[in-house]
Amino acid sequence: MTDLKSMTLEEMTILAKELGEPAFRGKQIFHWLHRGVTDFEDMSDLSKSFREKLKNTCAFTPPQVERKQISAHDGTIKYLWRLSDGNCVETVLMRYRHGNTVCISSQVGCRMGCAFCASTIGGKVRNLTPAEMLDQVLFTQLDSGAEISNIVLMGIGEPLDNMDNVLRFLELVNSPHGLNIGMRHISLSTCGLVEQIDRLAQLKLQLTLSVSLHAPDDETRSKIMPVNRSVGVEKLFDCCRRYFNTTGRRISYEYAMIDNVNDHDWQADLLVSHLKGTPGHVNLIPLNEVEESPLRPSRRTRAFQERLERQGVTATVRRKLGGDIDASCGQLRRKRMEEEEL
Ligand code: SAH
Repeated sequence: MTDLKSMTLEEMTILAKELGEPAFRGKQIFHWLHRGVTDFEDMSDLSKSFREKLKNTCAFTPPQVERKQISAHDGTIKYLWRLSDGNCVETVLMRYRHGNTVCISSQVGCRMGCAFCASTIGGKVRNLTPAEMLDQVLFTQLDSGAEISNIVLMGIGEPLDNMDNVLRFLELVNSPHGLNIGMRHISLSTCGLVEQIDRLAQLKLQLTLSVSLHAPDDETRSKIMPVNRSVGVEKLFDCCRRYFNTTGRRISYEYAMIDNVNDHDWQADLLVSHLKGTPGHVNLIPLNEVEESPLRPSRRTRAFQERLERQGVTATVRRKLGGDIDASCGQLRRKRMEEEEL
């Protein structure tokens, strides 16, 4: 069966022609799918015989809401979706003054092994298809009634470890015939896979690249992020400079503040020296405690921020949303897995 919803408009046009229909039928199918129809029968402007032909060759299976939690504090909604093969992934809807942002997953699980992250505990199960990423945006919008203006690829998974599907998802969600979300409203977060970042740079997309740094020195970073053991901080920053020089887009560095691990003054100073000469923005994140991990949140976030700012590096502290509903990545899926194991 062809994965119909992962197809681009152009591919659907070709498919329509192959099935003996005029090209514009491709656009009709694309419209229906990107409006969230869940059944071929609802594609009312296609002939019955064409719908039959499609049904026999193609499939699309929308995710089911397995669980939904709404924060009483700030209206953040967290969805746990059950995919067609029974796996679950999470999506979070955050409401900001500047618009509604959806945080989506790119893989079932993750193989990067970061010490502070709940998503990686059971390893990677599989990549998500472009359609499964698109559906998280589409069905979050349809279910919540909140119009989505921004997307962040910061949920479960490493997007650049599933790069082809992620690029195709970006093309789909960016389409004027679909959700039409502009690249400048999309952020992609990576643990720092340098070859893939170089490849992304060549595409010169207008999205925002976030690099999960979390430590400016190899000893600390290799301890908490195994990916650092093969590349190292120096090479990562070289790559970030190349990215900026090629795309002209400023990189945002994610830095989860961990007590007595990465929150020392010397680490702030080292971070400043890495960023010399290339504009970048540092996003300090209060660590979300993960039950399975001994790491604790830092109490030095403000001092660290001030030390960066005093030396000319812009740094913001991320506001915590959805603290009452386990809104940080991977936690809800972990809970569901534990329940299933019981
Ligand atoms: N794999 C990608 C995107 C997913 S994680 C990446 O590594 O960037 C999204 C962000 O949340 C990353 O910056 C990640 O390091 C961070 N993160 C993961 N677990 C966290 C925790 N317990 N507390 C705070 N931030 C966390």
